[in-house]
Amino acid sequence: MSRPTDYFPYKNGVMTVDGVSLNAIAECTGTPVYIYSARGLLDPLKALQKGLKGLDHLVCFAVKSSSNVAILQLLSSHGAGVDLVSGGELHRAAIAGVPADKVVFSGVGKTPGEMARALDYGGNGIYSFNVESEPELRLLSSVASHMEKTAPVALRFNPDVDPKTHPYISTGLKKNKFGLNRAEILKIAREVSKYPGVSIRGISIHIGSQLLSLSPLQDAFKRVRALLEELEDILPTPLRFVDLGGGIGITYRNEKTIPIPRYCELIHRYFGPKAGLRHPMKILIEPGRSISGNAGILLSEVLYRKQRKEKDFLIVDAAMNDLIRPSLYGSHHEIVAVSRKTGARKKTDVVGPVCETGDCFGSDRPLPRSLDQGDLIAILSAGAYGFAMSGNYNSRPRPPEVLVAGGNFEIIRERETYDDLVRGEVLPDQTCPRPEAAS
Ligand SMILES: *Cc1c(COP(=O)(O)O)cnc(C)c1O
Repeated sequence: MSRPTDYFPYKNGVMTVDGVSLNAIAECTGTPVYIYSARGLLDPLKALQKGLKGLDHLVCFAVKSSSNVAILQLLSSHGAGVDLVSGGELHRAAIAGVPADKVVFSGVGKTPGEMARALDYGGNGIYSFNVESEPELRLLSSVASHMEKTAPVALRFNPDVDPKTHPYISTGLKKNKFGLNRAEILKIAREVSKYPGVSIRGISIHIGSQLLSLSPLQDAFKRVRALLEELEDILPTPLRFVDLGGGIGITYRNEKTIPIPRYCELIHRYFGPKAGLRHPMKILIEPGRSISGNAGILLSEVLYRKQRKEKDFLIVDAAMNDLIRPSLYGSHHEIVAVSRKTGARKKTDVVGPVCETGDCFGSDRPLPRSLDQGDLIAILSAGAYGFAMSGNYNSRPRPPEVLVAGGNFEIIRERETYDDLVRGEVLPDQTCPRPEAAS
């Protein structure tokens, strides 16, 4: 599993990506800017694909972690499918040219409009709707029937993995909003004829994110296996696939992560040819962070050093609107000087210009004292849930995105302009008086 600096090594004292110095990119684009390494994105994808060899499998990149169409196209051209959670993401998949039979659609709140678009995607519709509730299944069945189509469905199973042994798991618990429990799934299976517009083809799970141990996954896999057995006896047609979700963690600081080969071995053990399934099943996984997380950084320039006795503040030109994870979850991102500095260090808070105390990328970091106005810093491990979660708070245009491959870099999203900020906003039309307000 990759570390934050693997794809951003120092050469002659300057941080680089695929042979390109970050200074050169900043000169061209200005700062702040998101920078992604193509190799950083592809290496984990290839490792997962290699690990799943011998199984009929598909790695579906979780679009919500890093949604730029150029990134989707790159991953898709190397065999990845996509896991979506909205109609907007479906639109991105279409632009990136992701084939319909490699698209799965997750999420608890799909609208009829989103369902219809996904049923039309590429003509014959997407590979699977991962359905999270009975009312959703009913609606999907009716939308598909009206379109004279059959919607392929995987029921999302909430395996209720024991919270005592695995306190950090956030989506695979009874109390979470996600998925259907065993009883609900069995009930649906017994009453499939009530849903004529759908065809139940698989089971999906996704138990949480930034998982650092295999044991919750193993628990979940066991429960999926047991459920599959039960369903075989109930469903009129055999299931064709299992979607095991995403969630593999990455190293942000010094966390020990699950090695991809071990993760894949576990999948083989529970769902592979020797796993004792009644018939072979296709295996899907939905990794997001483990593909995009350490492939990207946020590059920013120091605006000011504010000196205090006990610690200094570095005010940088990136802010919480660009990368919200530290403010939102208190997450750790390594922060480094792009040009290596020697000499004394001092406790430093790295903060942005936004008017919120929470606009802080890191507290009490031992950074070089000589780091000052005009110097570049890199906020690492920002490829997942970075740009994808950015916004315009404080009316700050969002940064550009750059993809580096084969020693070349390309701007894959332009910096937003002030006009972009007010696009769609309207000044009330003075020439067209409104009807008088009722008194
Ligand atoms: C968010 C999400 C993923 C990806 O999670 P990562 O932790 O980024 O791997 C996969 N599947 C579903 C259903 C999700 O909601």
